[in-house]
Amino acid sequence: MDNCIFCKIVKREIPASIVYEDSDLLAFKDINPIDKVHLLIIPKEHIENLFYCKEQHKETLSKMMFLAPKLAKENGLEGFRTMINTGEKGGQEVFHIHFHVYGGSEKLAKI
Ligand code: AMP
Ligand code: ZN
Repeated sequence: MDNCIFCKIVKREIPASIVYEDSDLLAFKDINPIDKVHLLIIPKEHIENLFYCKEQHKETLSKMMFLAPKLAKENGLEGFRTMINTGEKGGQEVFHIHFHVYGGSEKLAKI
């Protein structure tokens, strides 16, 4: 997608603090962290959000989920929260699916 900032990060057209990369996924630090550690895990393929996920994306989504605890551990977290905002009314601002992985503060707000 031409105008997608996360696709541009994948293509190295804009900089990001990349912490993980493989053939399907990329993870980088959120530019505006809400906790001591705040990472974003994205698929390299442009998928808008969970509403647009299809059978063919099952494996990629699963890989994203398994990557979260690995990166959390590598970044010193003993616990973390994941968040996936879906659609404008779900608080999504960047329309390339991403898992937020964050933690590190003493106590997370109970939801
Ligand atoms: P969401 O509201 O779930 O769509 O989250 C989008 C997230 O992307 C926000 O937490 C932003 O701080 C983050 N973000 C936006 N642009 C960049 C960027 N260029 N590099 C890293 N994170 C970004
Ligand atoms: Zn994209």
